[in-house]
Amino acid sequence: MNFRILEKSDRKLTFVLEGTDAAFANALRRTMTNEIPVLAIEYVDMEENTSGLFDEVIAHRLGLIPLVFDPKSYKLKDDCKCNGKGCSNCEAILTLEKTGPCTVRSGDIASQDAGVAVLETEIPIVELLEGVRLKFSATAQLGFGRDHAKWKASIAGYRHTPVVKVSPDKADEKIVDACPTHVFEKKDGKVKVVNEQQCILCMRCVELSDGVRVEAHENSFAFDVESISGLNAQQVLLMALATVKDMAQEFAEEAKKAIK
Ligand SMILES: [Zn+2]
Repeated sequence: MNFRILEKSDRKLTFVLEGTDAAFANALRRTMTNEIPVLAIEYVDMEENTSGLFDEVIAHRLGLIPLVFDPKSYKLKDDCKCNGKGCSNCEAILTLEKTGPCTVRSGDIASQDAGVAVLETEIPIVELLEGVRLKFSATAQLGFGRDHAKWKASIAGYRHTPVVKVSPDKADEKIVDACPTHVFEKKDGKVKVVNEQQCILCMRCVELSDGVRVEAHENSFAFDVESISGLNAQQVLLMALATVKDMAQEFAEEAKKAIK
């Protein structure tokens, strides 16, 4: 297996994985979106709400606000030594108190744990008119994207790595403008491939011109991962790989017990 990063930033990661098959690529994709524990608000104790929105609508909005957290600091409630009752090892408390006129934004939420904070401070929650009050205490806990979208760690997708070849003497220069992702450029009067990885396999160039060959590499996958949680994109990948390993390990142990 061969792995190389094409682009990385805090929120996004683009990489190529070679020497594997679609089954493994898809397992990794699904794990990166749905199988990593992410912190999100689950319960809201609404003390005052005289705004125009029902408690449930505000609670739903709060759940979807991404929270930055340290994955090592929190346990899943079911795995916690409090047996799911809720404690500082498996829950984070967030509070808010605002009086209108104002727009309540995610940045107004205060966290009792210094390691937990909202990822974006400008997400609007509700508009309060003169004298209107909103006061609540919310409890965040770890959960999985397979149970609710608020716990999704990332949006991840992959495609087969493209292989694009041109015969400069045969290729028609109109493919340079026709390609939607600008894979080709005209240099010294000849068409050349300059951005092979940008190819989306739309085959527009192959339809327009002879001398162009586009193929999808069978055992090579280009991944795009964008974090939509408080974890950064590289954490998402590393945690997904650890999860896949743990799942395989658990399976191996069960299989050994059953087969002995
Ligand atoms: Zn606990």
